[in-house]
Amino acid sequence: MICGIDLGTTHSLIGVVEAGFPILLADESGSRLTPSAVYFPADAAEPPRVGAAALRQRVLDPGRTVTSVKRLMGQPGRVGPRAMRPEEIAALILGRLKAVGEAAMGEPLTRAVITVPAYFNDSQRAATKRAGERAGLVVERILNEPTAAALAYGLDKLDERSRVAVYDLGGGTFDISILELRSGVFEVLSTAGDTRLGGDDIDEAVVAHLQARLGEPADAPARARLWEAAIAAKHALSTVDTHRVQLPFYRGTESVELELTRAELEALAGPVVDRTRACCRRALADAGLPAADLDEVILVGGATRMPLVRRVAAEVFGREPNISQHPDEAVALGATIQAGILEGSLRQILLLDVTPLSLGLETFGGLMNVIIPRNTTIPCKAGELFTNAVPNQESMLVRVLQGEREMARDNWELGQLAIDFQPGPKGSARVGVQFEIDQNGLLRVLARDTRTGTDRVLEIRNTAVDVDDARVEEMIAASLDHAFDDMRERVFTEARQKAEELLPAVDQALAAAGSAVAEMDRAAIEAAAAETRAALEAGEAARLKAAVTALDRATEHLAAVLVDRALEESLQRRGIL
Ligand code: ADP
Ligand code: MG
Repeated sequence: MICGIDLGTTHSLIGVVEAGFPILLADESGSRLTPSAVYFPADAAEPPRVGAAALRQRVLDPGRTVTSVKRLMGQPGRVGPRAMRPEEIAALILGRLKAVGEAAMGEPLTRAVITVPAYFNDSQRAATKRAGERAGLVVERILNEPTAAALAYGLDKLDERSRVAVYDLGGGTFDISILELRSGVFEVLSTAGDTRLGGDDIDEAVVAHLQARLGEPADAPARARLWEAAIAAKHALSTVDTHRVQLPFYRGTESVELELTRAELEALAGPVVDRTRACCRRALADAGLPAADLDEVILVGGATRMPLVRRVAAEVFGREPNISQHPDEAVALGATIQAGILEGSLRQILLLDVTPLSLGLETFGGLMNVIIPRNTTIPCKAGELFTNAVPNQESMLVRVLQGEREMARDNWELGQLAIDFQPGPKGSARVGVQFEIDQNGLLRVLARDTRTGTDRVLEIRNTAVDVDDARVEEMIAASLDHAFDDMRERVFTEARQKAEELLPAVDQALAAAGSAVAEMDRAAIEAAAAETRAALEAGEAARLKAAVTALDRATEHLAAVLVDRALEESLQRRGIL
């Protein structure tokens, strides 16, 4: 089972696909949102606390709670009272999510898709991946947040070349991305935003307003309650027009209260929300699109629950935004959908942007040599260098294969390509073979003789990506059914190739070395060679592998003797010794 994780600046979520449906998992108190906060107790022996527990501690001990660590991902500095790297703190949050998921599912969760902002660079993505690994998760995919949101909105089912804007206003960051969907694959055309703009800024404006009306709070706990009341009022006013803010015992025994209207809130939030407009215009300009060319505008991030934000987005893009999904859950839901696609449990509903089966070619001994593994995101490119297996070989046939089996003959052949070699000793030819799959699933196999510079190209349409679901399942089932036999056959084939190379060489070397090898060494080498021949005869994979390894080791000394001797002879010939 692969889980989907939205590692957010303020909140994080985890989900899995269960019975064909993506679902988000709740913690023991029923909450699906885990605050991205970590509290480090003063006693170093005490473990850090993550989530709502950390936020509760922040009120009492603000200096020991780290929040918004996502902003620092990929940076070298250290943060918090225990001077940890940002990714180490992110790992604690991911660990907490993993625990929430495992408690809900009653089984270990070890694989994940984790989302990151589209603008994250390689080192920020790598740091996020390392954080997942540190938390005990194999990170199957780092997914762009807007792409995840688009998946949650089901926009992957739009027509060819649809364009969508994803407007994401969270707690502390604003991201706007323009995506284009092509053959079920989302490409990010442009992104813009502000890493210091979000719902937190609105909270600050509301707190300042309440303080101006109610006076300064008397102490730290009263200040914490003021913040909580401001946030609660902001949330309530997304659905109602007026809200009563009540603060019992605000100053000693004095309780205060006042009424806040949505219009008042909007006046406070207006300047914050207005700052998103310029970012949106920049993203459109960078994508080279007029707003009218967009097919959908979708809103994500908790702050887009505010009617004011929805109005501003509608104004900038000149259309009503699509608000059919939970704004603070869409990204996590999309990550979960992606996880479901990867594990195969959602394949029937969604288009793939990955290779459904491995692609490779046949190599010596009839083995499958995988060039592009199954589940690789397209477009992609990979290659390998090949050489001639026998002296003066004139050509090589490249058989392009698809499938999960170890032996070439059990996979499907997509095509063939012949490459000519310059005649020469074994291992002298250099032929690079490259597989490239473009956005449209077109597989191009390029074989290039690097000596002569000649190219051969084979194009295979669609078969690389468009495979009938039933056939994909059949192939995977067969590869599981035959996993042991296949592996044994691969081990045997590889060991046999090595044995066939080694045995004649050993015989020759023994003859050439004559009395230079001690009797004991000779006996050991002969015994190892005999065992290798016996294992070959018996067709036993593990035994042959062990025998070849032993033979290799037994002849180490012999090889060294022969090298020394060759060197000596050459020096003597040249009159140096
Ligand atoms: P992030 O992606 O940065 O972790 P979220 O998408 O979880 O952030 O958004 C968090 C922000 O959404 C907070 O500022 C929170 O106050 C705000 N928010 C959540 N619910 C509402 C609501 N009902 N009305 C207005 N703002 C809300
Ligand atoms: Mg978010």
